[in-house]
Amino acid sequence: MMQPDADGARDVLARAREVLRRVFGYEDFRGQQAGVIAELIRGGDALVLMPTGGGKSLCYQIPALVREGVGIVVSPLIALMEDQVRSLLQLGVRAAYLNSTLELEEMREVEARLLAGELDLLYVAPERLLQPRTLDLLGRVRLALFAIDEAHCVSQWGHDFRPEYLQLSVLHQRFPSVPRVALTATADARTRQEIVERLALQTARVFSDSFDRPNIRYRVTVKDRAREQLWRFIDSEHPEDAGIIYCLSRKRVEETATWLSERGRVALPYHAGLPPEVRAEHQRRFLYEEGLIMVATIAFGMGIDKPNVRFVAHLDLPRSLEAYYQETGRAGRDGLPANAWLAYGLQDVITLRQMLESSEAGEQRKRLERHRLDAMLGFCELTTCRRQALLAHFGETLDQPCGNCDNCLESVPTWDATEAAQKALSTVYRTGQRFGVSYLIEVLHGVKSERVLALGHDRLSTFGIGLELEVAQWRSVFRQLVARGLLDVDAEGHGGLRLTEACRPVLRGEQRLLLRQERRQPRQKGKPRGAPSAFAAPADQALWEALREKRRELAREQGVPPYVIFNDATLREMVEYRPETLEQLRLLYGVGERKLALYGEEFLAVIRAHGG
Ligand code: ADP
Ligand code: ZN
Repeated sequence: MMQPDADGARDVLARAREVLRRVFGYEDFRGQQAGVIAELIRGGDALVLMPTGGGKSLCYQIPALVREGVGIVVSPLIALMEDQVRSLLQLGVRAAYLNSTLELEEMREVEARLLAGELDLLYVAPERLLQPRTLDLLGRVRLALFAIDEAHCVSQWGHDFRPEYLQLSVLHQRFPSVPRVALTATADARTRQEIVERLALQTARVFSDSFDRPNIRYRVTVKDRAREQLWRFIDSEHPEDAGIIYCLSRKRVEETATWLSERGRVALPYHAGLPPEVRAEHQRRFLYEEGLIMVATIAFGMGIDKPNVRFVAHLDLPRSLEAYYQETGRAGRDGLPANAWLAYGLQDVITLRQMLESSEAGEQRKRLERHRLDAMLGFCELTTCRRQALLAHFGETLDQPCGNCDNCLESVPTWDATEAAQKALSTVYRTGQRFGVSYLIEVLHGVKSERVLALGHDRLSTFGIGLELEVAQWRSVFRQLVARGLLDVDAEGHGGLRLTEACRPVLRGEQRLLLRQERRQPRQKGKPRGAPSAFAAPADQALWEALREKRRELAREQGVPPYVIFNDATLREMVEYRPETLEQLRLLYGVGERKLALYGEEFLAVIRAHGG
């Protein structure tokens, strides 16, 4: 192939943009999309690092449509494939998938269409792709490109490791002239290096977008009857929205789902202990129904493309900032406002440390996980902008505080806790570095409990020296000392606290310690966050509801999730601009040629019925 000149490159992008508008109904490329697309059309390889919702799919879908031949997409999750294919079919793109859910006959049909050159995009599960039969098939057709989605699945350090991904370098060996693109939302340098090495992408151009998700509001609360706190959050801010709640254990998932159901929300559990068909059904309902809450362990989420998840809540502390960012990233893919809400307490830290220590993992792995947990804790105890810290963790700089996290919206009062910390640390030391927080507070408060008396701790010099703080305040002090690494949790024993090297300067009075002051009644300042669906004018609200009803009706007829018809952002624009003709409707976000033809008149009729 000839190296295209500058005009050629412009020409390529013009064609890509034409497809973007006509097929997808979008005005322009975002972030690095144009660069990736040009590179692939030119025949080069690419590694794409973009946050969730950044628009990775278009990076390979458009080149597959522009280039001759079929684009092969490797995707680790069946649900994700089905979702994408469904959406593409709605857009009039000739797409199909090959995975274990197909009957033999259906499989043969897809293969026949592939051989006949009737497909633009074919999604394939990695184990299926690696079968000799599939590779032979691919050898007989013209290939536009290979896209390796969720490429971080090659990483053995990650939670999503898929052994088959390690063998994908075979694609390069068998089809050296076909461009390849690997895509992921996992940004850390180590994973990135693994992707490059294992997929033989050393010469690929790297395209990296900012990982910021400005529409997500981050909030962290200290646990104090966590469920009630959760309920206040959901009930006041997301009374009708879809969301995901993450818990650490299956038991807690079940309990929380039941409890939410009793309070009148539709909430379903999802964890690895449920039979596969139940999981599949719950996932299907999450996609197809509106306003459903999924209560899940980390087993749920990868490849969930639902664009209008309005909140992600964590009832337990995630294991790492990477996990937290990935999980919260499932909120607000459509770019509309969304919430990330987390409640945590010292007990979370103890539980996670204990799980870690008792796991089978090797010492190196454990050390890595301990570091990750520490970073997560540090994030929770921040008094400054959380987004700045998150982005810094992923190697990005945000110059100004974001204005859209709890610490930005409401400044965090701090207090000089040097003396309190000294009392707390000496009590830990004098009681032998083996007790938990409750007992330590008994000693500080001078409680003559049976245990205190039996151990003779009423004779310690720190007995009863902490009356100036209440139990909750002492708990906060201990928690922050752990988070800052001045105390350590004995995870092999019963979660007793021990001193660390780092606490010396504070004990000796060489270092002052400022801690965050817990708010008694967390107030909500800043703009109250209603559902983004709420409109001020009743007429607008009525039209919005009617448009949603029309969407539900069409979705039911077609057997697809409502957002596949049109997403919320498109419906919002219909309310805002009230188009009267197909020509006007065509200009709105996400209205491409085919959807205009399929649904245009029906939606215009709804708008007209509401006064045009
Ligand atoms: P990712 O796979 O990176 O998480 P998606 O490919 O699912 O993200 O894209 C997220 C959303 O943004 C989708 O609804 C998609 O249609 C939309 N989108 C992507 N690129 C653009 C664009 N250039 N203009 C408008 N919307 C876009
Ligand atoms: Zn901020």
